[in-house]
Formats: sequence, C-alpha cells, structure tokens
Amino acid sequence: MTINRRKLLAGGGVAATLAATEQARAANAVKWNRVVDVVVVGAGATGLPAAIVAREAGNSVVIVEAEPHAGGHAICSGGNMPLGGGTSFQKKWGVKDSPDLVFQDLTDWSVTSANGSADYRYNDREVIRAFADNCAATCEFLIAHGVVFVDKAPDTQGGNSVGASVPREMHCAPVDWPLIQTGKPADPDKRLTMSTGNGLMHPLIASARKAGVEILLSHRMKSIHRQGPQSGPVVGVTVEHEGKTINIRARKAVILGTGGSTSNVNFRRMFDPRLTEEYCGVAGTPWSYQDASGEIAGMAIGASLWGLYNNTGEFGSGVTKPGTIGGQFGYVNLRFFPGSEVFPKARSTGLPVKDWQDVITVNMLGKRFYDETGRQFSSDNYGVNKDYVPNSYLNAKNLKWNPNNWLNAAMAGVGDGHNGGGPIWAIFDSAAAEREKWDLKAPNVDADNGFFFSADSLGELARKIRMKYQRLPMPPENLEATVARYNSFVDSGKDDDFGKPKPLHKIEKGPFYAAWATPVLHDTRAGLRINAKGQVVDMNGDVIPGLYCGGETAGGFSLHGLARATCQGFVAGTNAAKETARA
Ligand SMILES: Cc1cc2nc3c(=O)[nH]c(=O)nc-3n(C[C@H](O)[C@H](O)[C@H](O)COP(=O)(O)OP(=O)(O)OC[C@H]3O[C@@H](n4cnc5c(N)ncnc54)[C@H](O)[C@@H]3O)c2cc1C
Repeated sequence: MTINRRKLLAGGGVAATLAATEQARAANAVKWNRVVDVVVVGAGATGLPAAIVAREAGNSVVIVEAEPHAGGHAICSGGNMPLGGGTSFQKKWGVKDSPDLVFQDLTDWSVTSANGSADYRYNDREVIRAFADNCAATCEFLIAHGVVFVDKAPDTQGGNSVGASVPREMHCAPVDWPLIQTGKPADPDKRLTMSTGNGLMHPLIASARKAGVEILLSHRMKSIHRQGPQSGPVVGVTVEHEGKTINIRARKAVILGTGGSTSNVNFRRMFDPRLTEEYCGVAGTPWSYQDASGEIAGMAIGASLWGLYNNTGEFGSGVTKPGTIGGQFGYVNLRFFPGSEVFPKARSTGLPVKDWQDVITVNMLGKRFYDETGRQFSSDNYGVNKDYVPNSYLNAKNLKWNPNNWLNAAMAGVGDGHNGGGPIWAIFDSAAAEREKWDLKAPNVDADNGFFFSADSLGELARKIRMKYQRLPMPPENLEATVARYNSFVDSGKDDDFGKPKPLHKIEKGPFYAAWATPVLHDTRAGLRINAKGQVVDMNGDVIPGLYCGGETAGGFSLHGLARATCQGFVAGTNAAKETARA
C-alpha cells in the first residue's frame, strides 16, 4: 500500500511518526566508528568523576580529551576544594554543616561583595539544590578514589563565593605525584601539606584508568549528534584526531565537561565586550584551553545558555590582576618551569611581584591609570562579613564600600574605539629589580615574544615596545612625563592622581624595563542550562535527552571552581548511567 505524504501529515500522531522517521534517517546518516554507552567530553574536574561513576555502574565509557594530557584546568589549580554540606572531613574537625545550609548560603540574595556585586543572587535554585544535596557524597567519592586532603580543619583559603556560614575549604595534597608545573614531585616536606590540583587530578586519572575508562587523548570533540538536527535524543559525537574524523555513538549519554569559554574571544565577549584578544594569558593555559566548544556544540543542537550575570558580575576571579609580570601567562598562583611538559609553550616563568610599590603600571600610551597597589574584585566567603545575617539587608550595611577598580581602569582602553584596554605594562628600574630580587633573563621573562623590554632610557624603552597587541606606538614623551610626575609624588609623599598610599620609590636608575602586566582571565561562571540531574535544557525549557553537562561549561551557578565541577560531574555521571541504552 502506498502512503500519501499529505494524508500522513494531516493526522497529528502520524506527523510525529514521520518526524521520528526523518530524525532516525538523519542519525543513521552518520557512519559510526565506535559504539559505547557513555561518551564524556573533557578529562577535567567534571569529566573524570562523571566517567568513573558511569563506569563503576557497569557502563562502557570513553573520555575524549582535546589535549595530549588529561587533567584540564583542574590539574593546574590550587586544589582548594570547597565541598561542604556535612562531609566526613567537616565532622572530623567539628564543623557543623548541612545540605540546607549550603543551599541557604548559595542562594542568599542579600550578600554582596564590597563593590556591590552579588555573589549568589542570580544562582539557579534547582542547580544549587542539586549541588547542596550531593556535596558531601562527592567528597566521600573523592576520598574513596584516592584524593588525600591536607589534614587540617576546613578553612577559607583559595575560595570565593562558597557561602558565608561555615568554613568548607579542603586542600588536595600532592603526595608523591609529579607536579605538572615542574615535572617533579613536590618537596618531601610539602607532599602532605601543600594544596594543588595535582593532588586531585592524578588520583582521579589513575582511578578512571583502573576502573576501565578509556581516555582518548588528543581527541577533540567537534560536534554532537541528535536523532534529528534539533530534535530527538543525543546519539553521539564527532571528534577529530590527528586530522581524522571519528564518530562515536553513545547508546546512553554524552556528558560535556569541556571547561567553559575563557579562551574563546568571541564567546567571552558575549558576557563582556571588553574581553578582546589582548587578554591572552588565561589562567590554566597553555596546559588546556576553555574554547567554548561544549557550549557551541550544545547550542548548535538547541541548548540554552543560563545565568549570564554570573559571568559578568564583578566578583571573584573571573578577571584577575596578574601576579607575575614579563611573560604571557601571569596568573598569580600558576607558574610553569623548565621541566614542565608545557614549558615550551609557556616560554617563561614570569617575575612574581612581591610589592606593587616597586612598579608603576601604564597603558598602551604610557599613561598611569590607577593606584598600582589596588586589588582585584573581592568576593564572599566565610568570615568576610563578620556580622553576617542570612538573607538580611544588613549584610550590605556591614561592608565598607571598596570598588577594587585596578581591573576596570586597566580595561578602560585608550579612547581609540577598541573595546579592550590593550596591553598594560609594568614599568620599573634596576633598583626595583634589586629590591624584588628579580633575575631579568630567560626563562624568567619572555623578551623574544614581546612580553618584556629593556632600554637605557625611558624614551628608548617606549620606542622599543612593539608586539602583537600593542596597536598604537607608545609615545616616548608620554612615558617620560608619566615617570617624572610619579617621581614628584615620591618627593611629595602623595599620589595626586590616583591616591597610591605614599609612593615609595622613584624610577630613575637605568636600565629601565617594561613587563607585560595585562589582566588575566580565569573563570567561566555561565554556560549551558542544566537541571537537577545535570541534563542539558533547550530554549523551550525541555530536556535534551541523552545530553548532560557540568562544571564551567554549565550555567546557573557562580561558585568558583572545583567543588561545582566535581559535584556536577558526579551528578551527571550518576544519572547518565541510569539511562536506558538506545538500540
Ligand atoms: C590556575 C588555576 C587555579 C585554580 N585554583 C582553584 C582552586 O584552588 N580551587 C577551586 O575550586 N578552583 C580552582 N580553579 C578553577 C578550577 O580548576 C576549574 O573551575 C575546574 O577545573 C573546572 O572544571 P571543568 O571540568 O569545568 O574544566 P577543566 O578542569 O578545565 O576540564 C576541561 C577539559 O576539557 C577539555 N576540552 C575542552 N574542549 C574540548 C573538546 N572540544 N573536546 C575534548 N576535550 C575538550 C580540556 O582540554 C580540559 O582537559 C583554578 C583554575 C586555574 C586555571
């Protein structure tokens, strides 16, 4: 019998059948090279727990990882882990916490940072409830999979936006694992006392392999497939490996843990148009990159973004002041040394700045813009607001207004129509280098690639500053005038321009130096919309069947870092494992 297509479409149920048939045809058009139950994208803080949980529940699991090594930003991290909710660790140290207290803390509308930005106000209640309810279980999962926490009471070190009621921060000890920063284990006296992401990720990588998770390195996910282009369940991914395309079918689920969007210039500018290409020293790179590939692939099949304020609000570590200068990658707590696998890409260790009295910071045109000792954005944590009262307007009254505007002034630009602030240079003389005990040679600075310059005079120094992001030449007379004026403030003891507390040192003893000191991007706090199970939700508010996500690729949750990622990976892996395998 021949079926008439128009008649078919006229009947609602029949039309649905036809749509399903067309979807199936689209999915079938993909030639699958492999079939597994669960595909996890990204071997970082989200991906590894997700993969381990799914594998231990009896599924075949493959992780595809873009880089030639596993670990993501998580392995570069400080390993400060704010998991609370009544963990065995909190109990051991007498800290009283509960899922309800975590939920209350992370949804408290009234908490603001000292510049007025709200840490928790725009968090999604469903996402936070899931985190609060799974926080303690995630902690036990990590301990059971080899993570050793430094044996001391939970504190507040390294955390931001983690809740104000009780201390929750634990610290991952590196034990005997090699540090990716040096290629060598930590000093024996620090192996159980220091905090590092190496102590989180090496045990998880080992546990995943031991459980039978296959980690495919240098396999970059390029796209996600649904049965139809924008409909039906997710059925697999396309990855690229050494120029070849591989299609991996997922019988149950695809879990995205690609780590956010800090390294994708166009994507990050959706949140803040100022974040143009000169912000090239993203924390965690060049170990791994957050290129928004998870978000973009998700959006291509209908996923929604969520909680976008959290990526724009001026709190926490979304944008940070550099802690080291003179190299491309200036994040305060991450330096790659010769011996590290990625040192050839990082090219320098940078010069750690002990005292910002030793330098002035100038913009592309050689002009000062702010008190150099100004700090970066602040954020909430236990103890920040000493008189904290949950959900009370009094919390704002208790804080002393402090805009922390070095970053905003650095990103203000020079009035040439460009949205970003352009390069920021730390200018100093040889006396400052002596005070800081800086050795101004490679590998400490990266002169070969235009991140460090030296000259016998200030005018010559300005003329020498030529590099990719220096769009306009620095007028020598500007730099000379800036330094002369600053030196006069040292004489008078008062910075009439920017109120630097008692400028201490003149810049007068050549040679003179210019070191890259441009703001560093760090966190992504907005991404794909997820529900309590970690399932990705589309623009109509409907679940995209078979697609899960967590960590920095997911939105709706402004908590900094590892706890969010590991917990959401744990949740996504648990729920993906329960899906019914599709034929
Ligand atoms: C220097 C530094 C210090 C930090 N310190 C702390 C801290 O002390 N405490 C804290 O809580 N947080 C900290 N953080 C933040 C924390 O590390 C991150 O929030 C966390 O790692 C995010 O986990 P994730 O799974 O979302 O991403 P990641 O851990 O970055 O993992 C993402 C992985 O996905 C891979 N990937 C990306 N795209 C693709 C693709 N298309 N195909 C395949 N693979 C892909 C990446 O290569 C990467 O391996 C720090 C971050 C940095 C950079």
